[in-house]
Amino acid sequence: MVVPFLNEEENLPVLYDRLVGVLDGEPEDLQILFIDDGSTDASASWVADTAKKDSRVRLLQLSRNFGHQIAITAGMDHAEGDAVVIIDADLQDPPEVIPELMAKWREGYEVVYAVRKSRSGESWLKKFLAHNFYKIFRAMVKMEVPLDAGDFRLVDRCVVDALRDVRELHRFVRGLTCWVGYRQAAVYYERAPRHAGKTKYPVWKSANLAWDAMTSFSGTPLRWVTVAGILVAGLGGLRAMRTIWARIVRPDDYVPGWATIVALILIIGGIQLICMGVIGQYVSRIFEESKKRPLYLLRPEKPKRDDGHRGP
Ligand code: UDP
Ligand code: MG
Repeated sequence: MVVPFLNEEENLPVLYDRLVGVLDGEPEDLQILFIDDGSTDASASWVADTAKKDSRVRLLQLSRNFGHQIAITAGMDHAEGDAVVIIDADLQDPPEVIPELMAKWREGYEVVYAVRKSRSGESWLKKFLAHNFYKIFRAMVKMEVPLDAGDFRLVDRCVVDALRDVRELHRFVRGLTCWVGYRQAAVYYERAPRHAGKTKYPVWKSANLAWDAMTSFSGTPLRWVTVAGILVAGLGGLRAMRTIWARIVRPDDYVPGWATIVALILIIGGIQLICMGVIGQYVSRIFEESKKRPLYLLRPEKPKRDDGHRGP
């Protein structure tokens, strides 16, 4: 069980109770790996205390907030089980679905993703954008990406190992678990509203994730840019021909077209800037990947020595 969290102090104890309640009945051994993505509230100390009482609980602390996708990655890197379930800390992904995921896994599927039948307690804008994003994404990547499946899923050990070799910085984990292939199956569930606290994914962060997803899985935005360029150049050419034609046929009727010229300059200039921006995005991604920085850094697990001893 991999649980990434950022400031979820009200949710973690409830999540823990429900997870343990549901999974005690299963034959497999349970381990809950909580990944603290730079929380500033009491969540991390709650996990640390619980870990002392319950040996199945482990805490991993990132050195700062690296983002949800990186937190999941850190969790998968350090999880030890034969299968790993990724679940949000806010109880939007009901733990009661996990036995269903495990049942599919025992049938032999290596990736079992949970598809949201409905999502309550989220803004209509987010639901609308999310649903359409998955459709566009699917068309762009020509890969069987499930619609409306979040990161709530079970992946087999072989998938976890495969993902260890995928070290790209702008990660879209749910896309990557699809990309690795293997046998995939779906389980349907009703997405619950957040138990407590506020979402850590405002619409702009979701938009960033969507953009990361598209640019890391597909060069299609670059193609859009080319098509936009061709269209605008074509329209400009037609317009120029018309102007020349009018000048020859009706020389007296000629109107100095300042407005047209200014409008065209602005429109074309704008489109050029957008195109350069998209290309720049890819270039900056090449730059970032070429640095080969580690995806995350962990805080030391052992508490600092408190005997006043410093240095070697
Ligand atoms: N989260 C995280 N790091 C972040 C943002 C979110 O670890 O930078 C965690 C958060 O605590 C939660 C999960 O990711 O467990 C999903 O976030 P949230 O519920 O806020 O997103 P939403 O469900 O609203 O899309
Ligand atoms: Mg949530």
